[in-house]
Amino acid sequence: MPALPEYRTRILLENHEVPLVPAVFHNTMPEILPEPVVYLKAQIPGATSRAGRGLVRRASTREEISNGLKELLSEENCQGVLVAEAVDIKKEYYAACLLDLGDGETLPGGVLLFSAEGGTGIEGRTGSLLRIRFSLLNPPSAAELERKLEETSNSQQLADFLEKMIATFISYKLTVLETNPIAVLEDGSHLAVDCRAEFEKHAVSKKNVHLFELPENSVDDSTQLEKVIEAINAADPAGTGFFRASREKVPDGTIAVATNLCGGGGKMLWEMTTGGRDDIFSLNESDTSGGLSGFKSYRILRVIMSQPEAQVLILTGSGMAFQNQFHLASAVWKALRESPSPLPCLLRFGGTDQEKAMELMDTVSEDLPVKVKTFKPEIFPNAMVEHLSETATRERVKQKFIPEPGELAFTVETPPARFVYHPDKNPERVEPLCIKECPTGFLKWSGGRITTDPDAKCIGCLVCETVSLLQGNGELTIELDLPGEVL
Ligand code: SF4
Repeated sequence: MPALPEYRTRILLENHEVPLVPAVFHNTMPEILPEPVVYLKAQIPGATSRAGRGLVRRASTREEISNGLKELLSEENCQGVLVAEAVDIKKEYYAACLLDLGDGETLPGGVLLFSAEGGTGIEGRTGSLLRIRFSLLNPPSAAELERKLEETSNSQQLADFLEKMIATFISYKLTVLETNPIAVLEDGSHLAVDCRAEFEKHAVSKKNVHLFELPENSVDDSTQLEKVIEAINAADPAGTGFFRASREKVPDGTIAVATNLCGGGGKMLWEMTTGGRDDIFSLNESDTSGGLSGFKSYRILRVIMSQPEAQVLILTGSGMAFQNQFHLASAVWKALRESPSPLPCLLRFGGTDQEKAMELMDTVSEDLPVKVKTFKPEIFPNAMVEHLSETATRERVKQKFIPEPGELAFTVETPPARFVYHPDKNPERVEPLCIKECPTGFLKWSGGRITTDPDAKCIGCLVCETVSLLQGNGELTIELDLPGEVL
């Protein structure tokens, strides 16, 4: 999902009167230098962990300001430098708004994450975050927020700040809006010191295009794997399937992690977990969310796993995913069976059928050629990464998947798949268990053969294949092509 640099996120917040630390954006060297002390922040779209990479600097003298500006302005992809006043902070909070697409029982809404301790190191305190779900149509008033926050803070100013932040989040249809820290000054005023936003390109209204820097004639620097993902999305457009490979080399001494992050919440939790660590390197950004099919999850996982430097796969969402987690686990299992170089994984399932998902992985993990560890949604990624070094591998497993021969039963165009029936696995010609497990009624058994109901639809959930392999005799398998060379 595209991310806005801080200086652009500030414009959105300013439009809703969220108080911000005074700052000026420069995209060239200014003729008159600002008064020290200031913070210089390079504005590079998508850049995370800026402080660790020297892209945020405190400048206490004019010389430091001048040198810092020159260096940061020459950074690759730098759009400019935000020069922010240094303020005397008495207390810090953390707040973020996330889009929650809901599930079968809850409508889409927003989630406010709040911590009474903000600033650096928030990644180590993810377990202590307060979560407040809110309606996008009828968001909470400042008074309601004040009541909900009373155990952590009884400040009316903070509630006013959060009300305006939520209004910004809803007004621009953002998927993530984060302010960290919210600084409380000596006089009790609250200011956003740092902020960032993520959005869906399709959700940006025409009147706001200029705020979201959607390049019309941008140079296509897509990698081969990113082009494969584009083709997967074109053939199966439902749900979000985003993948972007890091353009940086894997630093020595780090664990190279391939990530399958689900939704803005998964991405944010992962960034909070890894933001302060220099021993973990994310090979790619990703987002699989919005109720995508199991077929699409499988294809995207195959792409993610095919990154040659990867040592381990992390899969996590916010913990309350819209996608059925059993369908997702079926996709993970299929990818691990069929990938020529499967990755050991740390998998965090959270959402509908999360127990079934974990049970499936526990059942099949003994027969897999790689280590697999599952986590409940209560276990946050900052605890998951404690298992990275014992799970990651330097020697990738190689395997050759040879599909069992069978008869092509039928094909499905969207999401695309070939269904293969294996009559030799069903010599008695009895109705296989998988037929009744199809959640849409698309599969039928007629005249000793698998057929389909023309009035029903295949949603690409993979349940039939999983049931056939685990509870049946392997009578039905599904072949999912990849649009390009993926190892
Ligand atoms: S046939 Fe039914 S069970 Fe199989 S993938 Fe399609 S919807 Fe799912």
